[in-house]
Amino acid sequence: MPPTMDVLVSLAKRRGFVFQSSEIYGGTGSCWDYGPLGVELKNNVKRVWWRDFVQQRADMVGLDASILMHPMVWKASGHLDHFSDPMVDCRECRHRFRADHVDAVPWTHYCPATKENRFTIPAGEPCRHCGARRTLCPDCGKGALTEPRPFHLMFKTFMGSVEDSAAVTYLRPETAQAMFVNFDNVLQSMRLKLPFGIAQVGRSFRNEITPGNFIFRTREFEQMEIEFFVNPSDTVDGRPADEYWHDRWIEDCLAWFRRYGLRDEALRLREHDKDELSHYSKRTVDIEYEFPIGWSELMGIANRTDFDLRQHAQHSGKALTYFDEERRQHVTPYVVEPAAGVDRALLAFMADAYREEVVRGEKRVVLRFHPELAPVKVAVLPLLKKREDIVRTAHAIRADLARHWRVVYDDTAAIGRLYRRQDEVGTPYCVTVDVQTVGDAGKAERGDGRVTIRDRDSMEQIRVPIDEVVGVFTRLIAGEAWSQVAAGRGATGDPPEAAG
Ligand code: ATP
Repeated sequence: MPPTMDVLVSLAKRRGFVFQSSEIYGGTGSCWDYGPLGVELKNNVKRVWWRDFVQQRADMVGLDASILMHPMVWKASGHLDHFSDPMVDCRECRHRFRADHVDAVPWTHYCPATKENRFTIPAGEPCRHCGARRTLCPDCGKGALTEPRPFHLMFKTFMGSVEDSAAVTYLRPETAQAMFVNFDNVLQSMRLKLPFGIAQVGRSFRNEITPGNFIFRTREFEQMEIEFFVNPSDTVDGRPADEYWHDRWIEDCLAWFRRYGLRDEALRLREHDKDELSHYSKRTVDIEYEFPIGWSELMGIANRTDFDLRQHAQHSGKALTYFDEERRQHVTPYVVEPAAGVDRALLAFMADAYREEVVRGEKRVVLRFHPELAPVKVAVLPLLKKREDIVRTAHAIRADLARHWRVVYDDTAAIGRLYRRQDEVGTPYCVTVDVQTVGDAGKAERGDGRVTIRDRDSMEQIRVPIDEVVGVFTRLIAGEAWSQVAAGRGATGDPPEAAG
């Protein structure tokens, strides 16, 4: 059973993933703060994305542009004139809705067939008693809604000390435009040949009419975007290069989400209809994920043609072209844009990883994160916290492992409970130091210098010499299967798991 959003929100708060922003003042609408584990998870999402799509590819480079850009950028991009959503207001309770979302929420109905009884009816469904469909405000069920009006989504601000119209600028609503306005800088400085892409990870801001659903839709969020430039005169496998690369990026992005754990059956592609396409787009495909709120966009992959480069060339008066040596002509590249939200990806990874299992008659909550995403890779746990030699050895192992990964030490409960705590935050491996490891000086018994490594998913355990621990985790965290790494190593019996 996938978790509900309430379950995720509560786990996220309780275990230090995500807190409501400015909570002690009553919270800031739709703003969230990433806590100690949340920031690790988020950094991991961004790090593997950057590694896989930038570092490992010969045809990609990166960029980190400023959030405040020249206001003309937004004129040229079309955002000033077009970046709005249709909104409707309730004339009674004044609540505001995105016109295209108003039927996507449950609605309040005072049913005339049942003496005006108040019902909450599932989104998009008619009343079971009178058959009516929603026409009034879904929240209060009484007020009529206004006609749709455009609502501008960019946050306006002022640059400098004077708040006049000459100083108006905007917080960027997407990271993409920086790649277009820097196209020539990047091309010339890096001596690139088409096709190539520019990637950026950074904050974007949209004054959403109806933010909500936890970190799914917020007013401040992070994006991981790529602008992949291709020569429109080229063909690949007999197809126009932009169409070929569009399909390639759809496949690569889908494979990326699968690789880090999203289940196949919870992912699907959605092709935008012609009348839904943005003004710049030749074709757009969304990757949708079955979030706790239902199927929704996880990322979009658009073929933006040469619209952006042409617009910026026209508004800035600077050439934004590429010299095609073979054809001896200047061309304006087409661009394919895979655009993902960091927060939405994180929410999908969390929802997909969540499991409730029954182990020895007890409920176990576990986040089965891919090891590369897990906020903590290893927890080092002493079996007896009163034994100074056990504690010392555990601290030394933690310090050694922490040179490579985020590793924690915990001795604040019995071992069984410590394992459950680590399961609940998705730590893939635990290391336990016990009497067998260090021996017992009082009885003149020497330790075997081995520790127990426990696997989160199978709960199996193996004994490993301390000086091999780093090597074992290097293999496991790089993705090698537990069964393969564990093969040939003595499994321990039950003790540490059962000891709680
Ligand atoms: P939506 O239709 O959900 O408003 P969009 O189509 O406007 O999204 P894009 O402009 O394509 O979104 O942005 C690319 C990605 O950025 C989205 O797929 C999503 O993951 C993320 N994103 C967009 N808006 C938000 C937001 N308000 N909060 C969190 N993430 C967002």
